[in-house]
Amino acid sequence: VRAVEGANASGAYVFMGGTFDPIHNGHLRTALELQQWMGVERVCLVPSRKPVHREAPGSSSEARLTMAQLAVADEPALDVDDREVRSGQPSFSYLTLRSLRAELGPERPLCMVLGMDAYLGLPSWHQWQELIELCHIIVVRRPGYIYEPDPGMARFTRAHETTSLAAVLGSPCGRVLMHELTPLSISATQIRQLVAKGLSPRYLCPDPVWHFIQQHRLYGLNEGS
Ligand code: ATP
Ligand code: MG
Repeated sequence: VRAVEGANASGAYVFMGGTFDPIHNGHLRTALELQQWMGVERVCLVPSRKPVHREAPGSSSEARLTMAQLAVADEPALDVDDREVRSGQPSFSYLTLRSLRAELGPERPLCMVLGMDAYLGLPSWHQWQELIELCHIIVVRRPGYIYEPDPGMARFTRAHETTSLAAVLGSPCGRVLMHELTPLSISATQIRQLVAKGLSPRYLCPDPVWHFIQQHRLYGLNEGS
């Protein structure tokens, strides 16, 4: 049902997965600029339950989900899809894509947004070669990461060479599209480190997210005091 809600005239469902530990303005601005550039009704943020590519997050999946919901509460172009947090499974994009594809049916465009760091790390993902049979991949630049794909990603590189936004919106899956947005050198790691040091992350993330971090003493805030 969510997938149907997130679709536009082309029927495209565009989503950005992540740990969002916490969600920040780099994620939010990226999602909003993509929504506008692609002309879709909205972009969904999908917080992961238990990330598979990294160590345990600094806050619970419920806290990360709530912060994402707070961040988009006043922005109709962005939505939060809680399917990974609700599922009892570890978060494999492959499984999320299969569940989205089952809801959308075989014809509608399904687009997964990845920052350049995530895209370059794709070969470590579960069933990664099959991902572009389920979706298109929209890659956004991220300061500090240069586009140098693994030679094993040749199939993805070919999928990238001859594509366009129109081609993506006109087909269900199989293309890799790169797009340059306002570069924002913000990471959740930086925010967690600031908070742990007793410094404010204000203006790197939305105020309601910062207030939530303070209320729940996340990321080692005021530890020992
Ligand atoms: P961490 O430092 O904990 O890894 P992060 O800032 O990288 O956090 P993630 O939740 O890991 O955030 O990222 C989710 C998705 O958002 C990934 O595809 C990532 O590449 C992308 N992303 C994160 N920050 C930015 C940014 N500043 N600009 C563009 N894309 C970003
Ligand atoms: Mg990251």
